[in-house]
Formats: sequence, C-alpha cells, structure tokens
Amino acid sequence: MSALSQTQLTYLTELRHDLHRQPEISGEEVHTAARIVRELKKLGADRIWDGLGGAGVAAEFRGAEAGPTVLFRCELDGLPITEVSDLPYKSEVAGKGHLCGHDGHMCMVLGLGMALAQRPARGRVILLFQPAEETGFGAQAVIDDPRWPEIRPDYAFAYHNVPGHALGEIGLRNGPANCASRGMQINFEGKSSHAAAPEDGISPAPAIAQLIGALPELSSGTISDADFGLSTLTHVNIGEAAFGISPGTGELRVTLRSMTDDRMAFLTEGAEKLLDAARGPLQTDVTWHDVFHAVTNSNKATATARTAAETAGAITREMDHPMRWSEDFGRFGQDGAEACLLFLGAGETQPQLHNPDYDFPDSLLTIGPAVFLEITRQILGKAAG
Ligand SMILES: [Zn+2]
Ligand SMILES: [Zn+2]
Repeated sequence: MSALSQTQLTYLTELRHDLHRQPEISGEEVHTAARIVRELKKLGADRIWDGLGGAGVAAEFRGAEAGPTVLFRCELDGLPITEVSDLPYKSEVAGKGHLCGHDGHMCMVLGLGMALAQRPARGRVILLFQPAEETGFGAQAVIDDPRWPEIRPDYAFAYHNVPGHALGEIGLRNGPANCASRGMQINFEGKSSHAAAPEDGISPAPAIAQLIGALPELSSGTISDADFGLSTLTHVNIGEAAFGISPGTGELRVTLRSMTDDRMAFLTEGAEKLLDAARGPLQTDVTWHDVFHAVTNSNKATATARTAAETAGAITREMDHPMRWSEDFGRFGQDGAEACLLFLGAGETQPQLHNPDYDFPDSLLTIGPAVFLEITRQILGKAAG
C-alpha cells in the first residue's frame, strides 16, 4: 500500500525526528517553515508561498489540464510542554515538544509531495503547512492572507492522529467531526476592605460563588447528542492569600465546548446572561481565548476519503460521535471547500495527545501518504505513463 520507496520512507522518518528535536510553538514556527520550504524546493513544487498568515507555507503541484484544487493541510506548531522521554530524537528545546504529532502530520504531507513527482492528470494539489493550530488562530490567519485567493481549494483534507484507536485505522465521520470550544475569562473589579469591615468594600466572592454553581449547569447532553454542550470551570482566583483583607478583585475562567457552532452561540449567550445576573456593583471585563469553531465534514469529501482509504488498503472505522477536542481545520470548510478531517489511529496504547511522553508513530508515514495520494487520484485522476 505504500506510495513511497523504502529510501523515501527512511528519509521522511529521519526528517520527522529532526523536526521533533526542534519544536517551535504557535506563532514562532519560522525555522520549521524554512526547513519545509527547502524540502518543497527539493520536491520540485511548481509554486511555493511562504509567510502565509504568519509562518505558513503552501506548495502547488499542477496537473497537465485544468481542474479542481485539492488541498492537504498539516500544522507547523509544537506545544509549550516539556517532553518526558528516552527517545534519541527527544526535544532539544527546553519546555517545548512536538506532543500532538504535528511533526508526523508534516511528514505525511511531504510524503504526498514525494509521490506527486508523478503529477495528477488535471487540476492541482496544494500542500499547506499551517501555523498556530494549537491556539486556534492559524487557519483563519492563512485564509485572511491576501494571497489566499490564489490558493483557495475546492477540496480540503487533513489527518489528525488519534491515540487509543488501532494503529493505521482511518476514522471517518460525516457531519460534526470536532467540537467547537472557547475560553471565557472574566475579571472582576470591586473594592478591597479590612476583613473586619467587609461591608465597606465590594468583594467579588459572592458573584464568583454564584457563577461557580451556575456555569456548569449550562452543560447539556452527551457527545452523541446534537445539542451537546459542556461548560468546565478551569480557574478561579479571589483577592490575595491573606486574612486581613476582604478582596477587591477576582478572576474566573470557564471553557465552553459544543458539537455545533449554533450550540456555542447558545452557550456563550448563556454564560454572559449568568454573569449579568451575578455582577451586582462589580466592574467586569470579559475576554475570549482559544476560539475554535466546530469541524463539520462534508459528506462528499468524506465519501471520497472513504473510497480512497479502502482502495489504498486501509482499515476504516465509522465514528459514531465527534472528537471532544477542537481543531481549526473547520475554517477551510466554512471558507467553501468540501472538507474532511480524517482520524488516523495512532495505536491503542499510545499516550494521549499533549501527554509529556506522547510521540507520533513512524509507521504511519507509510499509510498516510498512500491514502492522500489515492484521494488525489479519485478527484484529479492519474497521469498516464
Ligand atoms: Zn494539539
Ligand atoms: Zn494537533
């Protein structure tokens, strides 16, 4: 089922280890991007864009005739987490690690680039190396780049590897594939006072206590339900660690999660209403962080991915519910592409994504490019000869 020779696979594996040693976090992926550009030049890409929406890189591989544009996306960024492992290619950057497998995703997309030495019959393939996925900014930043109209695809595909699923198995789902999520940070400003005279100040404690009780009540359903919503308190702080002061400031953070963007609008409005009801005389300031929209797979792109995976000899799995974690790949579907995120099993006993001992399994470098290549053949045909 491999689309690549043993020499190419060895090269990709070593490249993956190189990228793994030198992770860069969201918004700082300049060296990784420069390396990718060098690799794409070696592959003879017909056109390369760099500096897309930050450090993003895209490469075009043109077929002989006009036809649709098919984009394959991966991510450049690592995480601000210290890797804990004995791997010979362990991260050499303190406090940073490729612990979501984006090093592997990049190499699977480069593997497709190797196979595109034989161009498709028509249309064009775009390989996109997107910045800042982990913070939810990158896909939108690429789409907002003034050069995006030169790239804009008719179809978009990507993998995310999934620890806990059988190694190499391709998980597919029509419709909702990843949840929307966003972080709400509320800062409270009241008035401190002597602990002996709290009535002369304005403490945020009662409002925060009310919200701690009320915010989780916004949750609804289970991950199998269309109205699934989850409201998780993640951080609370009131005043100083002291006994003599009735506090004058506070902070509360809550993460909202839902299967659809409509449900997210409902959760967001609900959280704001609860704050209005609790605020009293306090000044409050709300900021939103890590805003991810839901990923919704198109039935058409998912059907193509399913046929391609089966043709390439992969085991497929129909997923009965979306992933709870979020992804910014959904922006490409909202931008008009027929889009499908494929879930590539990383092995049943593999540590979870973002665990300090997680590592991308190199054996996926075989199946990943093979299924991507078959997707291009399904849509763009295979060049003769
Ligand atoms: Zn991640
Ligand atoms: Zn990831």
